[in-house]
Amino acid sequence: MVEQKKQNPLAIIGLILIIVVCVGFMIKTLMPKKYPRSIVNYVCENCDARFRAEYQTPPIKCPECGEKKAVRVIKYQCEKCKHIFERRIRSMDDKMAMEMPKCPKCGSDMLMHVREVPAEKAK
Ligand SMILES: [Zn+2]
Ligand SMILES: [Zn+2]
Repeated sequence: MVEQKKQNPLAIIGLILIIVVCVGFMIKTLMPKKYPRSIVNYVCENCDARFRAEYQTPPIKCPECGEKKAVRVIKYQCEKCKHIFERRIRSMDDKMAMEMPKCPKCGSDMLMHVREVPAEKAK
C-alpha cells in the first residue's frame, strides 16, 4: 500500500489561489449591483437641452450639441412657501455646491429635494 502522508504543497497553493480568484470575482460582479450609480439631472448651458445621465463630475458633454457645457441641476422645494427652484452645479469646486441653499423667495433654508423619478424605474 502506498500511503500519501505528504500532500503536494503546490496543489494546496493552487487551490487557495483558485478560491481567492473566485471570491475576488464574486465581489467584483456583486459590487455594481449593490452600489448602482445614481442617475442625476443635467442641463446644457449652451443649448438648454435637459437630460438625465449617470452621475459624473460636471461639466459633461451634452448629447444634443456635443459641447462640454452640461451642468448638474438639483431641484429644491421650499418647505415654508412651497416655491420650487433649481441650483446648477458647474464644477466640483463650485462654492455653490458647498453652501446650503436658501429659498430665493423667502430666504428659508428648510428645503426638500424634489426627486424626479425616471420613467424607466417604473418597471
Ligand atoms: Zn447642448
Ligand atoms: Zn421659500
